[in-house]
Amino acid sequence: MTYEQVEVPDEGEAIEVVDAKNDELDVPDTPVIPILYGDGIGTDVGPAAQKVLEAAANATGRDVSWMQVYAGESARERYDENLPEDTVEAIKEFRVAIKGPLTTPVGAGFRSLNVALRKTLDTYANVRPTYHLEGVPSPVSEPQQMDMVTFRENTEDVYAGIEWEAGTDEVQQVKEFVEEEMGFDDTIHDGPVGIGVKPITEFGTKRLVRKAIDYALERGRDTVTLVHKGNIMKFTEGAFRDWGYEVAEEEYGEEVITEDTLWEERDGQPPEDAVVVNDRIADNMLQQILTRTEQYDVLAMPNLNGDYLSDACGAQIGGLGIAPGANFGDGLCLAEPVHGSAPKYAGQDKVNPTAMILSGVLMFEYIGWDDAAQLVRDACEATISSKQVTYDLHRQIEGGEKLATSEYADAVVENIEQLA
Ligand code: NAD
Repeated sequence: MTYEQVEVPDEGEAIEVVDAKNDELDVPDTPVIPILYGDGIGTDVGPAAQKVLEAAANATGRDVSWMQVYAGESARERYDENLPEDTVEAIKEFRVAIKGPLTTPVGAGFRSLNVALRKTLDTYANVRPTYHLEGVPSPVSEPQQMDMVTFRENTEDVYAGIEWEAGTDEVQQVKEFVEEEMGFDDTIHDGPVGIGVKPITEFGTKRLVRKAIDYALERGRDTVTLVHKGNIMKFTEGAFRDWGYEVAEEEYGEEVITEDTLWEERDGQPPEDAVVVNDRIADNMLQQILTRTEQYDVLAMPNLNGDYLSDACGAQIGGLGIAPGANFGDGLCLAEPVHGSAPKYAGQDKVNPTAMILSGVLMFEYIGWDDAAQLVRDACEATISSKQVTYDLHRQIEGGEKLATSEYADAVVENIEQLA
């Protein structure tokens, strides 16, 4: 592939895909990794994360050949467009990339760049690991019990965006169809109404649940919980649960066992190293993450449940400055922090880069650099527990030392060098 808008670094090699469906990659010791700083505070946290990740790669005998790519403000400045084709192509070609937040200006005609990227790359699983770093202030008394990974379906349910506005001809047509053709008369109140459609497909569900189970097997997790609202929405959320169980029962042999089979056939004792698949109703699950935190591992869910649950999990371990994420497709990973571009802090060298740094941990794990990933996580924890923190945590920690974004990154790099 030849690029006109971005430069491929002279050094480094591309990560090759061996088997996309199974995320099997051939990773060189000096991979080319596209990095997109993004908008707003992206220009603060992006370089900070880059420095830390590079230090961890070097400390484990590797190197990263960073390839700068652009979208949003940085792309408008350079090329007068929001999402250059070369940026998308580079992520597709090099398979693994990291990005900062992108601003979605409010106003008609402006498509969310994140949605456009997600659609073009078909990154159908939004993944957020939620674990507590010692020293990070939390609203719960035992935040260390939280160690979950949420897999949120990224392409259907409310993200399909199929809805019609009250007062339009379209909504009237849909209402008439639902009432007259589908037999739901006397169901929708008279007067203005907005109507949405919630598609949940077998295809979309199964590939998401497969990703979650594969992840659990690979990373030695004990359970995958399907979180749904199938008691009320039987044919969408209930179908998600049923198709999820089908994947568990039909595709993995003895490696995966459902909770029902476990009790019927094994008196609740799982085979060694097996993953147990169970399900919970979403509202119950929101309680359980608080009351039975330790019992859950990997959660797989449709889009809207995932939206609520992943934020609720994130709040328990310290919030936005800390929360990492990644979008996975088949043989493709685009890591990104959960937070947005926080424009009022942009360019002040002030905000917390931990979320972006830990997104890099997910990316390193994806390419099999577990030692480098662990080093980054340990170094962040060492830095925060020695009370060297950015302003957001500083105001909650007594006697802490307040660092700028770049100073915090330097402190993490020092800890990497000491821990390596
Ligand atoms: P936001 O996450 O940008 O900021 C909300 C608040 O959270 C900030 O004012 C700040 O107090 C705090 N915060 C966020 N990140 C922080 C960090 N790293 N360190 C310390 N504090 C931090 O959310 P918003 O204000 O709703 O959105 C701003 C813009 O970001 C919008 O245009 C939105 O569309 C976009 N956004 C992008 C993404 C993405 O690119 N993935 C995600 C969310 C929002």
